Amino acid sequence: MAAPTKHAPGSIVLPSGKVLKPDGLSAEQLFDSQFSGGLTYNDFLILPGFIDFAADIVDLSVRVTRNHEIKLPLLSSPMDTVTEANMAIAMALCGGLGVIHYNCTVEDQVAMVRKVKKFENGFISDPVTLGPHHTVADVLDIKEKHGFSGVPITESGTLGGKLLGMVTSRDIQFVKDPTTKLAHVMTPRAQLITAAQGVSLDEANRILKSCKKGKLPIVDKEGCLVALMSLADLLKNKEYPLASKTKGTKQLLVAAAVGTRPDDRERLAALVAAGLDIVVLDSSQGNSSFQIDMIKHIRQTYGNKIDVIAGNVVTQQQAKNLIEAGADALRIGMGSGSICITQEVMAVGRPQGTAVYQVARLAREYGIPVIADGGIQFVGHITKAIALGASAVMMGSLLAGTSESPGEYFYHDGKRLKRYRGMGSLDAMDKGDAAGKRYFSEGDKVKVAQGVTGAVLDKGSMFKFMPYLMVGLQHGLQDIGVRSIKLLQDAVDAGEVRFEKRSASAQLEGGVHSLYSYEKRLFS
Ligand code: GDP
Ligand code: GDP
Ligand code: GDP
Ligand code: 5GP
Repeated sequence: MAAPTKHAPGSIVLPSGKVLKPDGLSAEQLFDSQFSGGLTYNDFLILPGFIDFAADIVDLSVRVTRNHEIKLPLLSSPMDTVTEANMAIAMALCGGLGVIHYNCTVEDQVAMVRKVKKFENGFISDPVTLGPHHTVADVLDIKEKHGFSGVPITESGTLGGKLLGMVTSRDIQFVKDPTTKLAHVMTPRAQLITAAQGVSLDEANRILKSCKKGKLPIVDKEGCLVALMSLADLLKNKEYPLASKTKGTKQLLVAAAVGTRPDDRERLAALVAAGLDIVVLDSSQGNSSFQIDMIKHIRQTYGNKIDVIAGNVVTQQQAKNLIEAGADALRIGMGSGSICITQEVMAVGRPQGTAVYQVARLAREYGIPVIADGGIQFVGHITKAIALGASAVMMGSLLAGTSESPGEYFYHDGKRLKRYRGMGSLDAMDKGDAAGKRYFSEGDKVKVAQGVTGAVLDKGSMFKFMPYLMVGLQHGLQDIGVRSIKLLQDAVDAGEVRFEKRSASAQLEGGVHSLYSYEKRLFS
């Protein structure tokens, strides 16, 4: 952003020496409610800057909560038609973060968190282990239940026992009798390549690569098993260089939602035991004594072991209360979701652009990241939310039609669709479990819906869709003339990045128009 230093940011000094006032509006001017009222993403545009770099160098990494950084500022919503284990794995592998919904039993939610945490590892610190007296059937059982079959064999049959051998799929594939004892099929200890406890991750990786085996058991001085490593993880790490991981363990980063009622404390305890990194307190109006008590309870019980995303909020006062209670990030949005009828029914909410800008402005002073939740319809909306100060966006409808979202595809009018429903829809409530609590009080005699049930188009695999969102965002920042999200937000703050309001007819002009027919393909 080359701007003459002596004049207001964006001013132009002409050859004659005359100075023109800055073109467009600063974010502060754009959101001056005296002139604008509430705005949302479609109501404004960002003015282009100067490009002297390639789009693929644009750095999209952000701090998504106080203690966690991710390389792609995208989150999937905690909704039962959006985020279960497969979506959370895909989000984390691609560099974002999945938030697992809680419209299910505690056991089901815990199993989903565990599946994400087990998907990739540095050292596998609690490998599934068997003893020599176990049988081939036991290994097949593990394969069925967990998806892997590389099992260390110890004297005691547990981690910490003396390592006796190793069984992998190759050792059992031609064994006809499932009652065969593992002692007869395992590769014995003498033939195993192992590494000593205390070995660094890099050194262990080097041994794994050079020994050309799928597994590397780690043993202590007495020869007892303390951990396991898998070559598959090195390959996963290579294939997904942006993956969001927990520092230290190299496991995928995962978040999950809970409510703020007393039994949610038990749910959270079980999730933390399963390795949860980040908890999202799921309330449509987060500025409540319940939520503040819950944040304090989490801080007291878990210290800094997990980060808390509190919300939802749309005003600075709401945000201040939750930040001061100890929130590590805030989720912004009330009534902006695609499936949402809160503003119609409750008469409460705020246009999402204004909500993001005003809350982010306050949170920035405290150094707390904010997440723009709901209303993201196109990749350009992500760029706008981030320009307004959000560290990341949370998406429901945009991700609901991908192959990694829960539910089956179906056909309607020749289109391939998946179901997508609001967690405050009567439909989601009827499933029972937990979702209803976000939008209803147990004592309510009449259930008033705050969401609808619908369907969205097939969007293919997340592993294609996420790169499309990433490249789109990089090109957006390139057009603005900034090389990273941090530089974008600093430049917006300094009034160097300029904005323009869009009239209703300008919005029509900005979409496809004047065609008899057209096909909208988004990427290839
Ligand atoms: P970077 O990969 O160098 O950017 O830094 P990381 O902290 O991600 O990785 C440090 C070392 O750990 C490198 O040798 C990586 O190959 C290795 N590593 C990273 N992720 C994994 C993983 O999931 N499993 C294993 N076994 N090694 C990993
Ligand atoms: P296998 O050869 O069938 O054991 O499977 P791979 O080695 O190809 O993949 C196993 C994957 O599961 C790796 O990503 C591991 O990090 C992960 N994993 C998580 N927990 C365990 C465990 O207890 N044992 C094993 N073997 N793998 C685990
Ligand atoms: P895969 O995941 O099924 O390809 O299995 P591995 O590559 O881990 O193992 C292939 C064969 O090597 C099996 O018979 C294993 O029991 C055996 N094996 C596993 N780890 C070691 C090891 O460290 N050293 C030796 N010599 N064999 C091993
Ligand atoms: P979308 O990305 O589809 O526009 O919005 C997703 C967001 O809408 C979710 O992250 C959540 O905050 C919100 N949401 C989900 N279900 C409901 C609902 O039933 N009612 C309301 N008001 N908001 C919902």
